[in-house]
Amino acid sequence: MITTKYIFVTGGVTSSLGKGIVSASLAKLLQARGFKVTIQKLDPYINVDPGTLNPYEHGECYVTNDGAETDLDLGHYERFLNTPTSQANNVTTGKIYQTVIEKERKGDYLGKTVQVIPHITDEIKRRIKILGQQYQYDFVITEIGGTVGDIESTPYIEAVRQLKWELGQNSLVIHLTLLPYLSSTGELKTKPTQHSVKMLLEHGVQPDIIVCRTEHKINDDIRKKIALFCNVSKEAVIEAIDARSIYEVPLLMEQEKLDEVVLKKLNVVADQKPDLSKWKEFLNTLYTSEKQVDIALVGKYVELKDSYKSIAEAFIHAGVQNKCKVNIHWIHSEKINKENVRSILSKVKAILVAPGFGNRGIEGKIIAIEYARKNNIPFLGICLGMQCAVIEFARNVLNYEDANSREMNPATTHPVIDLLESQKKIDYMGGTMRLGSYPCELKENTLAYKIYNQKIIYERHRHRYEFNNEYMDAFAEKGMVFSGMNPEKGLVEIIELKDHPFFIGVQFHPEYKSTVENPHPLFVHFVKSALEQNG
Ligand code: GLN
Repeated sequence: MITTKYIFVTGGVTSSLGKGIVSASLAKLLQARGFKVTIQKLDPYINVDPGTLNPYEHGECYVTNDGAETDLDLGHYERFLNTPTSQANNVTTGKIYQTVIEKERKGDYLGKTVQVIPHITDEIKRRIKILGQQYQYDFVITEIGGTVGDIESTPYIEAVRQLKWELGQNSLVIHLTLLPYLSSTGELKTKPTQHSVKMLLEHGVQPDIIVCRTEHKINDDIRKKIALFCNVSKEAVIEAIDARSIYEVPLLMEQEKLDEVVLKKLNVVADQKPDLSKWKEFLNTLYTSEKQVDIALVGKYVELKDSYKSIAEAFIHAGVQNKCKVNIHWIHSEKINKENVRSILSKVKAILVAPGFGNRGIEGKIIAIEYARKNNIPFLGICLGMQCAVIEFARNVLNYEDANSREMNPATTHPVIDLLESQKKIDYMGGTMRLGSYPCELKENTLAYKIYNQKIIYERHRHRYEFNNEYMDAFAEKGMVFSGMNPEKGLVEIIELKDHPFFIGVQFHPEYKSTVENPHPLFVHFVKSALEQNG
């Protein structure tokens, strides 16, 4: 155990350079040396959390065990580190202001004028330090969202300046920038990096390490030039070249000695080199597997693939476990109808129907599920996908013609998916769904039991509506199996069908728990079942 060290990761030049992946990769290297590490994301937007954001805005909303609706970068942190994150790992400007304003209303500021400095910056600093203090991490890596120079990220940069001063040797700033490549002259340009470091300096922050995102290798001259103009040592200029897979980045960072430079600058002596043997094995299988399998992902946000980030990553993990590559066919549910369903889905060996909210695209999902059910095609329905499977069964097997979820048709005579009494009284949208980890008890001799091979499992939720238990007997009579139930509340968590190679719907989100080291068993078996269809 060492005194907690705080590492800040800022970004310059453009957004989307991969601060999350660089942070997760550094964390992986430190963890692989035996340190206890966590990563935190500070998001400068004013929403309290991304739970109420449309996926087109920010991609998927990731859910932690303790029910926080968070930025999708937290998914990367968990997938890389194989340790759960929590509420404390994602802080937004909305949350900061909410806390400060509540304190002001309670009179906690004793008549003082409440200001960005020191009150907002103090609250930002408290949220950063809390991870080290409460959970006793060796390293807390804090990623500051946005780009240096953005008006809304200024208080965060100011908090970093103050913390650097307070923590001295126990803190360090990594600045991630872009080296654009000019193809006409065949040159990598350093000027934008120099400018963005100047901008950081204007805020009083001197970066200790510069990580340069680049399409081409950087030579010694470029390293020297950046070192000279940005006041860092040459070893502290790190190349982050585009990688084939995000999972290669920890190895690239190791080659560049990012972890060694960090440890040296923080005066930490490590007893061991990073042990990345399992990671390398994973990557090797990922890059060398020749077998391929085609699986459809039917959803309504498919134009923005980040909307289904965790599902796509879970397929990569499950593919590696099955020594194959999963080719995801991104299929827009609004484009599916009874006439074209066969031609659209005949190319795939399995069908996943995605989570979602609202009516748009729902009928296409139901048609896809009918096709999977009737043609013995492996099917996995997640959350809304499971609810659609219930609706499909109600309409086409039980002949409840207008069966629906009350979310889609409040006037349906067969609300097979409905709100619980406790949800009916809620009129606030933010943070009021069934969120986070809940137990689920599995029924023996079911496919779900065979897959998980245990009685009680824990999975994460994010939904308002539930299977309506009044219909349970009618469904069971016609062959639907309720193979997973919440033991306390009797809520349906997993449905499946007998006499089908693989037909499973889950009310929870298995994708959130799939990591490189622990690929999720549902995805692993789903991919396996798809491979079996290959013949
Ligand atoms: N819209 C559905 C509900 O609220 C499903 C949510 C989801 O797929 N995450 O219950």
